[in-house]
Amino acid sequence: MKRFLIHSLFLLVAVIGFTGCRSVPITGRKQLMLTTSGYENELGVTSYAEYKEKFPRSTNETYNRALDNCGKAIAEASGQTDFEWQFTVLQTDTQNAFCLPGGKVAVYSGIMDVMQNEAELAFVVAHEVGHAIARHGGERMSWGYLQSFGGILVALGFQSDLASSAYSISTQVGVMLPFSRSNESEADLIGLILMSRAGYNPQAAVQFWSRFSQDSKSSMLGNLMSTHPCDAKRIEAMKQNMAIAEAEYQKAQNKKGFGTVFRRGR
Ligand SMILES: [Zn+2]
Repeated sequence: MKRFLIHSLFLLVAVIGFTGCRSVPITGRKQLMLTTSGYENELGVTSYAEYKEKFPRSTNETYNRALDNCGKAIAEASGQTDFEWQFTVLQTDTQNAFCLPGGKVAVYSGIMDVMQNEAELAFVVAHEVGHAIARHGGERMSWGYLQSFGGILVALGFQSDLASSAYSISTQVGVMLPFSRSNESEADLIGLILMSRAGYNPQAAVQFWSRFSQDSKSSMLGNLMSTHPCDAKRIEAMKQNMAIAEAEYQKAQNKKGFGTVFRRGR
């Protein structure tokens, strides 16, 4: 049985070595990828339709125009020409935003109600687009496949419940948890660069998160915070990346600064 296990693992490593790696755009990080973008994009289309069924479109013209403007500019800056981009403001008090694989972006009006300007929106959109072009969803699925495959091998090889439960605990702690935090930092970096290339002042990113992470009443942002945990470290990392973002912003052809103002002060 042990020989079977070793052979299977060897085969698995060889298969991944040949087919299962990809470089993330902008950051160049090598990632595990065992799914296809075609498959992920199909899931994106189905899921987008469900969200649009669940919530009505916002009729707020300022919001719709701002998302249209910054969405187009960010899509162009991403260079992701195989995406069929769509941008929708959904009317709900929930505070969240997402970009599904294939470029299906939705921003909830609830999160736009707490933004000061279009540049803050551009950061949130560019961050979500960052997750999509880095294919974090596909990467997560790939680790899931690998984890279930590994679990089967361990169960077959050792024929012991103890071995497989120890395996599943260690992969949860060792791989699954820190994974999403590193996804967040990567999406922040990609987001900062994309918003800057799209012509928005990258300082808006730090202003947006700092305002809310320091505010104890920011349970207003509960949903966005729970899917995108933000702490002092994350803001610090954004500040450190600001020089790179500023350089991109200086090169941008069509500078919009902070764009349309939604509301002043707070
Ligand atoms: Zn995120």
